[in-house]
Amino acid sequence: MSELKVRISEIFYSLQGETKTIGLPTVFVRLTGCPLRCGYCDTAYAFNGGEVVTVASVLAEVAKYNPRYVTVTGGEPLAQRNCFNLLVELAEQGYEVSLETSGALDVSPVDPRVVKVMDLKAPSSGEMHRNRYENIQWLLPHDQVKFVVANRDDFNWAAFKLAEYDLTAKVSEVLFSPVYGELNPTELAEWILTDNLPVRMQIQLHKYLWNDEPGH
Ligand code: SF4
Repeated sequence: MSELKVRISEIFYSLQGETKTIGLPTVFVRLTGCPLRCGYCDTAYAFNGGEVVTVASVLAEVAKYNPRYVTVTGGEPLAQRNCFNLLVELAEQGYEVSLETSGALDVSPVDPRVVKVMDLKAPSSGEMHRNRYENIQWLLPHDQVKFVVANRDDFNWAAFKLAEYDLTAKVSEVLFSPVYGELNPTELAEWILTDNLPVRMQIQLHKYLWNDEPGH
């Protein structure tokens, strides 16, 4: 299975900038390609290019950092079929593995040891029609759902979906994240408090530490 191949944009060691493990040293494996085109995308450099490598060589590269946490991200990593095998192999190594996914592709085959961090795309992304709501049934108690919020309409929509799917009861964290440079984080914080939403607000740490440069 390790001879299967994936197309990789980058592998790097950094502090996790989001999610429940924010601030913890993590190896990131960024797979190339994404079938979506969110208006606020901050990883468009991973849409094309990259290098085709074996899963075995990814494992070897990750092991050099001797990490506890490994995050598979993109682009949209699940757009590559062999990503499912990569996730299994990483979990087999004993790492705490998470997967960042757009929510547009089927997550049901993901190894249950892997923490899924699944987006639900709000209206301003331009990709709301791609949300695959059937995925919600496959979320496990350790998983996380993320809403990226650019404005009040996005916030209202996210609050509605939070209640409609009873997400707080289904997953370990529901994350609300402001679009960097578009929505004042303080404004989002105040909306969450005013509406008393049971969510965790997050600010993308890596953008403050490294000004959103690739490799972090
Ligand atoms: S799903 Fe993620 S990688 Fe793909 S376009 Fe949207 S923000 Fe960018």
